Amino acid sequence: MRNMLRAGLLALFGASVFATSATAAGEVNLYSYRQPFLIQPLLDAFTSETGIKVNVVYAKKGMLERLKAEGMNSPADAVLTVDIGRLHDMVEADVLQPVRSNVLESTIPAQYRHPEGLWYGLTTRGRVFFVSKDRVKPGEAETYEDLAKPALKSRVCTRSGKHVYMVSLIASMIAHHGEAATEKWLSSVKDNLARKPQGNDRAQAKAIYEGVCDIAVANTYYMGKMATNQKNPEQKDWAKAVRIVFPNQGDRGSHVNISGAAVTKSAKNRENAVRLLEFLAGDFAQKLYAEQNLEYPVKDGTPLHPMVASWGSFKADTVGLAEVAKWRKAASKLVDRVAYDLASGS
Ligand code: FE
Repeated sequence: MRNMLRAGLLALFGASVFATSATAAGEVNLYSYRQPFLIQPLLDAFTSETGIKVNVVYAKKGMLERLKAEGMNSPADAVLTVDIGRLHDMVEADVLQPVRSNVLESTIPAQYRHPEGLWYGLTTRGRVFFVSKDRVKPGEAETYEDLAKPALKSRVCTRSGKHVYMVSLIASMIAHHGEAATEKWLSSVKDNLARKPQGNDRAQAKAIYEGVCDIAVANTYYMGKMATNQKNPEQKDWAKAVRIVFPNQGDRGSHVNISGAAVTKSAKNRENAVRLLEFLAGDFAQKLYAEQNLEYPVKDGTPLHPMVASWGSFKADTVGLAEVAKWRKAASKLVDRVAYDLASGS
């Protein structure tokens, strides 16, 4: 039974156990939700600088389940993932350990790291509006609160309210306005939807391109990923149909989320794991993150990708993501309570 469970988890996580052939400098074992095209060049650079071998398991799902099942026997020393939601779930499952590091604490702004060092943000992404260049005038949709305005009836598109990106945004609304006001807001946003929530962030830009809706909620880097997409050139047209609006520039700033890293509670190579995190927050890695994935580096002074720079600078919400994370469960419940994903559109 136990073996079956383990086999099932391995299949789910899509990986075998790490090969172990340590070098003199040792090794570090990493579970990564971030993709090889982005991470492997960074890990190779880390190894050539430090001599520390990195064994990495790339996966699309099942990381938390695997860490929980493995417990203190987990071979993983560190994890890489996106969204505060996934990091917070690991905190709640008690599979992480605190890390103190002058390098990490001086590089990463306080709102993008856990107060006790249980996780650290490495890149940031704004959760912004993609709006129709033709059909949305300046001033029509400038704040998250605006999404609930009667004037936007049948003009808004989003992905499922239960997606980790949406839950974090709604949690940030609760952090600022409280649960009751956020429930009212979310219910009004639902009433403004042009269609049932569906698809990913890029699919919302496509819907604007097709005239299905005028205003969508999406992460910044998708604009760049669509605009530069050689494999699916039709996405360039979706990108051309929309412009970015950074919400709430007149008050608290736009909701910003992170990709981040953490050291596992079970880490056998703790020191090497911390060194890896510090490397990922350093100049070389930060520049590569910015170039490859069109995200915002956490390290001040790192050059942005020219396309990202072209969107202009913006004010980010400074409420700590650890605080936002506390409201994620409540946010998820609100999505159910207003039956957001059952919106029929109109
Ligand atoms: Fe994404």
